[in-house]
Amino acid sequence: MVAKVISGPEVAEQIKQELRVKVAELRERGITPGLAVVLVGEDPASQQYVRNKGKACEELGLYSRTVLLPSDTTEEKLLSVVDELNADPRVHGFLVQLPLPKHIDENKVLVRIDPAKDADGFHPMNVGRMLIGDPLFLPATPHGIQELLVRSGNDPDGRHVVIVGRSNIVGKPVAAILMQKKKGANATVTVCHSRTRDLAALTRMGDIVIAAIGSPRFITADMIGPGAVVIDVGTNRVDDPSAKKGYRWVGDVDFEAVKEKASAITPVPGGVGPMTIVMLMKNTVIAACRANGLVY
Ligand code: NDP
Repeated sequence: MVAKVISGPEVAEQIKQELRVKVAELRERGITPGLAVVLVGEDPASQQYVRNKGKACEELGLYSRTVLLPSDTTEEKLLSVVDELNADPRVHGFLVQLPLPKHIDENKVLVRIDPAKDADGFHPMNVGRMLIGDPLFLPATPHGIQELLVRSGNDPDGRHVVIVGRSNIVGKPVAAILMQKKKGANATVTVCHSRTRDLAALTRMGDIVIAAIGSPRFITADMIGPGAVVIDVGTNRVDDPSAKKGYRWVGDVDFEAVKEKASAITPVPGGVGPMTIVMLMKNTVIAACRANGLVY
């Protein structure tokens, strides 16, 4: 069997199309949804991600604001920026790019964000609301994974989803979303991590396997059951002297080998990545609707 390649840009474009309609409706009422991003430090991957967010806002007609702060910014200064964005009426949603420099307490920053403007959905209140199935915002990457599955004809309903990774930004929230008693969810979920015994035996049982590890080509073909659906979240930079930049991006899945065994698979790049950005745009539009007493 050769797997169908699930195209992230294709699915993201469908959602962008829906957002364009919504944004046009809002603009007719004089409302321009606004997203702000705060970046502390000069991490090149984060800078690239922030630039992509700015471009996506522009493409969809959203107001976009970027706050760039040096890596030695104090916690107090960052908290004052959060307060300012909480109060800015042009900004309906914003996020502080993670990870933060070590001298800043991430949790202290996350709880300071107004939960109604928490475009990343990482405020503890929003995490709790997601868990009980009454979310204000769903975190962008996990929500994007759910959309990719459903819109590519691989609804997780009733299926066994095996997730490798238990981070607060991918593994845990994707488990919480897919186990909900809801349309596009209803999965039986197994979450694996670095202390899991006989990982391959568990991943082979997955109808759907989601890899969020951060280790290049970690998931090999022998770890996948025949016909499984494989979602690769990993974005790992590996040296490649033949590439123009001297490096390229690979996922956590050995794509070439696994695609011979799976029924569907996401590539890296071109899989989950484009979904993350579009779901963030969607959260901004949802926030703008809510701030104006409208339903998305
Ligand atoms: P983390 O490093 O926070 O988490 C990695 C997880 O993988 C941990 O739970 C860890 O287990 C588990 N793990 C590590 N080694 C093993 C192993 N040998 N066997 C089983 N489990 C293992 O990473 P993130 O969740 O933040 O990100 C994962 C990947 O996804 C990264 O490549 C990241 O760049 C990418 N990513 C991509 C996004 C996108 O938009 N495409 C968005 C966010 C992330 P333990 O908890 O025990 O340490």
